[in-house]
Order: sequence, then C-alpha cells, then structure tokens
Amino acid sequence: MSSTFLDKLPFLHRNVAFAWTVFFVSVGLTLGAAYISAGFSEKVEKERFELRSQEISEAINSRLNYYKQSLIGAVGLFHAKDTVTRSDFKNYVAELKLSENLRGMQGLGYAIPVDPQEKLNFEKRIAQEGFKDFEITPSHRRNFYSAILYLEPFDWRNQRAFGYDMFSNDLRRVAMRKAVSTGKSSASGIITLVQETEQDMQKGFLIYVPVFRKGISEMATYETRMKQLKGWVYSPFRGKDFMLGILGSEDVDYEFDLFIGDVNKKENCLYSSSKVPFENHTERKFYKEIAFENVGQKFNVCVYSKPTNASLAVFWPMIIGGLGLVIDILLFWFLISLEKSRKQAKQLAETLEQQKKDLENVNWGLSQFAYLTSHDLQEPLRTVTSYVELFQQDYSDQVDEKGNFILTTISNATKRMSALIKAILDYSRLGKAGLTYSRLNTNQLMQEIAIDLQSRITCTKTQLNWSDLPQIEGDYTTLKQLFSNLISNGIKYQNKDTIPQVTVRYKEKRQFHQFEVVDNGIGIKEEYREKVFEVFQRLHTKGEYEGTGIGLSICKKIVDLHNGEIRVLPNPSGGSIFQIKIPKKQL
Ligand code: ADP
Repeated sequence: MSSTFLDKLPFLHRNVAFAWTVFFVSVGLTLGAAYISAGFSEKVEKERFELRSQEISEAINSRLNYYKQSLIGAVGLFHAKDTVTRSDFKNYVAELKLSENLRGMQGLGYAIPVDPQEKLNFEKRIAQEGFKDFEITPSHRRNFYSAILYLEPFDWRNQRAFGYDMFSNDLRRVAMRKAVSTGKSSASGIITLVQETEQDMQKGFLIYVPVFRKGISEMATYETRMKQLKGWVYSPFRGKDFMLGILGSEDVDYEFDLFIGDVNKKENCLYSSSKVPFENHTERKFYKEIAFENVGQKFNVCVYSKPTNASLAVFWPMIIGGLGLVIDILLFWFLISLEKSRKQAKQLAETLEQQKKDLENVNWGLSQFAYLTSHDLQEPLRTVTSYVELFQQDYSDQVDEKGNFILTTISNATKRMSALIKAILDYSRLGKAGLTYSRLNTNQLMQEIAIDLQSRITCTKTQLNWSDLPQIEGDYTTLKQLFSNLISNGIKYQNKDTIPQVTVRYKEKRQFHQFEVVDNGIGIKEEYREKVFEVFQRLHTKGEYEGTGIGLSICKKIVDLHNGEIRVLPNPSGGSIFQIKIPKKQL
C-alpha cells in the first residue's frame, strides 16, 4: 500500500492517545512556566520595592543634610560679623532662595537666650526697632528666657512666631539643650509650630544649630557652653511641606510613613502618604522599615505597597498561562485533525488499492478471455482455410468464374482473420510477468529487424538507417517487436511512387534514452495522434492499406511495460516521427 505524506511524520500523529498525551504534557509545561514566572515576577516586584524604599529614605536623609548645611552657613555669618543686624540676616536668607532651593523649609531663624533681668529692656529695645507690641511669649514668669529674634522670610505665618520663647516648650528645649551640649545640629521631636493656624494644620519639627562666642573648647561643660552661647540658628519645618519639598508631589508609587523616633508611637509620625494612616501596614504585600540617624535624631521610614500596587510583571504569569493554554489547545486541535486526516488518507489509499486490484483482476480476466477465444478460434479457422485450399486445388476447373471469385474472397478473409487473431494473441500475451530484463545492444537489435524485414525492404526499395544506438536495459523480444512494428508502419504508410525512408535516431537524456523512428510517409493528422495508440484504431480502409489496427497499441503496451512514453509528432519534412522515451533504470 502506498504511504501518504502524513504517514511520514511518525511522532505527530500516532493516534488520539498521543494527542491527549501531548495536550496534558503541554498544559503541564504551561502551568509550570506560569508558576516559575509567578515566582520570578514576585522577585522582580520585591526588588523594585526594595530599591524604591531605599530611594525614598536616601532622599529624606540627603535633604536633611542640605538643610543642615544651610543652617551651618548661617552660623558662619554670625562668626564672620560681630553684630549681625536684622537686615544682614534678611539678606542672607534672601540669597538662599528658600522656596526654590530648600523647599519644605518654613523659614530660617535666630533665637537668643535672654537674662530674666534683661527681659523688659530687651522687649523695649525691639519695640524701638518698630515692632510696637513686641513681647516674649508665653508671658508667664520663669527662670530662663529665650526669644526668636530673626525669622525670615518675615511673612504673616512666621511673624506669629516672632518673640516666641522656644525654651519654654519641653520638646523644643530638649533639642536646644542637645544642640548646646553637643555643639552640633539637633532636631526636635514632633511639635506643632506656632506658625500653624486652624487651616491645613500640619505636624512639624525644628532643627537647631548653636552659635557660640569664639574660642569655646570642645571639652567645655554645659554650663560653660550656655555662658558662651550667642544663640541658636534654627529652621522650622512643616511635615507635609517638608515631604513635598523632597518628593515633588504626594503621588508616589509606594506609600510610606516618616517617624521621628519610635515607629510604634502614633504621635511620632511626621508624615504619612497613606489615606488611611496608622493602620497595620505590616500586613501589606511588601513592608519595610528603614532607620537612619541625622541632625541628632533617629528617623524611621516605613514603606509599604499600596493595595493596588501591581507592576506589569504581576501579569506575566497570567499572560504566559493564558497564551500557553491557547497554544496547547491549538496544538491539541492540530494533532486531532492531523490524526483525522491521516485516517481519511489511509482509508482513501486502501480504497484506491482495492480498486487497483479489482481493475487488475478484470484486466487479467479480459486478456485471458481474449487469449483463450483467439486460441480456440484458430482451430476452426485453420480447418476452413485448409478446406478452401483443397477445394481450389481439386475443383477450381469445375467451378465457374463467380465461384472462383467467392473462393478467393473466402481465402483472403480467413488469412486476414488469422492475422487478426495472431495480433490479438500477441497483445493479450503481453504482460510484466513475461518480460526478461537484460542489457541489450540496440544496434544489434536493428540489424536483426533489418534481416527479418529484408524481403519487404528490397521490394519497396526502402532506405533504412540507424547510427550509434546505445546499450540499454530492457526486454529484448518486446523491444524488437516495438521497433519492428514502427519500421514496418514507416514502410507501409507511404504515398505511391515514394521511396520509403526510415531512420532510427537516438538522443541521450539525463534520466532516459530517447529514440525516434522517422519516416517520410503520409503522416498522421493532429486529431488522430493520440487515437492511433488505441486498440483497433485504423485511419484507412483495408483497400488502401492492409492492417489490423493493433500494431501501435502493442507498441504502447511494450513502452508502458518499460515505464516509458510514446507519442507521435509530425515530421517537418513530411511524414511522422514516433518518439519513445525509456528510463535508463528499469524497476
Ligand atoms: P495497422 O495494423 O492498421 O497498421 P497500427 O496500430 O499499426 O495498425 O496503426 C494504426 C493506424 O495508424 C493505421 O491504420 C494507420 O492509419 C496509422 N499509422 C500507423 N503508423 C503510421 C505511419 N508511420 N504513418 C502514417 N500513419 C500511420
């Protein structure tokens, strides 16, 4: 049975079970890939979160450094001049361009310690500067006073703090003392600035840097330091403004809370980007606390993912899983249809094979019938022929002219019938089984044909030529019959008065031998060029040319048995060319 193209794809179409196996394996692989990518996307998400958390905390820390530097710069101003006037200070702060360069800094100020005995004089002196109602606040009596002397920009909000004694407030006092005793910048805890109003109330904090008279030793005690203290350069910060100065906007990809001090105390939270601050954010998908120290305080940044936080990486597993499943289903569908097509193709091939066998049987039966009938017909025909001959020999003188004519007609008819029966026998005997393939010399074959046809060649003065014919693989007897039939026809189908010229020529092709039997006869019209190879096809009456109409069909059968081709072409100089192609290799 012939194999189809699909049969040549062994792994793709074993059967339906194979398709199911492939389906389950591919679904397994897809789910595996989705699972791995889920882990991978989780890792990418986490790394992104870690990085962003670091960025946020580093941004806060480095911003605090900027603020610290600008305060230290102001300290330098007090060291550079014995007396720094209000306008000197104003000019210095104006140069800093707080709103542009140090956003989030509510202002830059200078507070000084005031001896309780000097308090009234001090207030008078400032009032004389043009601040009529100036007084140190709060007004209750105490042992130690301080007062905000300068605070720039001196806008309405900062004017609320003018004269305020920060030392009177516990949280501020702690930071002011720490600044004095360390000689370094020191931030307060969370406070509400005196600048705050009812509107947009924010939490805040302050950073202090002490200004000492020249020549203070690093080893000096707190008391000595307080005696040498000129004042504090400081800066107030409002929590939200401070963070907006750092981040540029409240819209951040992750949420965070900024604490000064312990994270567990709600009151320590300076700023929260969350709409629901102080909930238990540790339950969020990602949560991280980053602590750092600066300006004498411990800062804590708690960063956590938003409930809606999801980068594209989160969708990878879904995309991979979804696409993978679509491909798996398509692959399954492909394999099932492949299997279906293979079955159909197999069925078709089986049907064709059966039909071929049936045809061969019918053919064999028909040729057997033709062979037996022809064989059985020969016997009575021989009897008729013998009796007619006997009758002609013994009684021809007793029969009149008409009787002799009838006897001659019967004799000719029986001869023709005998030739026809012989031709049918020859045709029906032809079959693959009767062939013997060998290497044969076609020059020699031609010589034998010329000898066989000698008397006709001489009679008709035929010029039969051939040259340089090859050795080929084939059945000697049938090939001899093939060329003999074609040469005989070349001699026979001629116009009167023409000397027949028959040439056998050869051309070697890559895959096959090409022979041409060329004659100068009557030629064959185009519409008959295929028909002449059919059995009993004759183009002329027996009166014109003798024949059975089987010769060329025998030629066709012989060529077919050699897996070749035969066709007739017109000879450009008149006559016909019978072209035969015989494969070099016989199967
Ligand atoms: P037949 O026994 O009649 O020659 P063939 O099968 O050999 O039978 O030829 C079939 C018909 O083809 C012939 O009757 C003839 O008309 C035509 N034919 C065959 N060979 C030639 C040829 N060389 N030139 C012209 N006609 C031909």
